[in-house]
Amino acid sequence: MQGYILKITPLKEEDLIVKILTPNAIHTLYRFYGARHSTINLGYKIDFEIEYTLGYIPKLRRITHLGYSWLKILPKALLWQQFITLLASHFEGIERVDPFYFELLQKMAKKLTRQEGKRVMVESYIELLAFEGRLHHSFECFVCEAPIQEDPVLVRAFLSAHSSCIPKRSFDRTKIAYLIHSSDAQFLEDEEIEELWQIIQEGL
Ligand SMILES: [Zn+2]
Repeated sequence: MQGYILKITPLKEEDLIVKILTPNAIHTLYRFYGARHSTINLGYKIDFEIEYTLGYIPKLRRITHLGYSWLKILPKALLWQQFITLLASHFEGIERVDPFYFELLQKMAKKLTRQEGKRVMVESYIELLAFEGRLHHSFECFVCEAPIQEDPVLVRAFLSAHSSCIPKRSFDRTKIAYLIHSSDAQFLEDEEIEELWQIIQEGL
């Protein structure tokens, strides 16, 4: 089966606990250290098998790394790992998942070959919020609950607020509305993308 490595926890003698996102589940598996084992890393897409033994954590076996060309571009690889780590926290304590998340990572990995990394993160996060029913299509202040007529301030989970309610920099409302309605970041400047990425890093 195939999956994305969400989290790696080192144990004694270089054994590892590895969390893997597959289309329907997050598997927590045990990997014994061995010289002949292929290297695994956070965010890698792998093909693997699970060996079940009664009373023990299932074992991760027969790993093949299904690589991407952009993994050699360090900033992209690091960005990917940061997003994967945010996703792992988002899934804390969850074992069954909708195939949406696996498909989202598939799509992101494909987009990363030709598109700027942080734009991919911002557009994909909009898709995630929409899927989870957390995307707000109208600008309403989460603090005072009144509609926002001017440029909105955005905070964690891209909730919007008046700049008088949350003293932070505001975003151009037309550009943000376009982003929200189309999951397309093309009209945003690099510096705006950077700010949105900072917000994403606060938690999905
Ligand atoms: Zn307000």
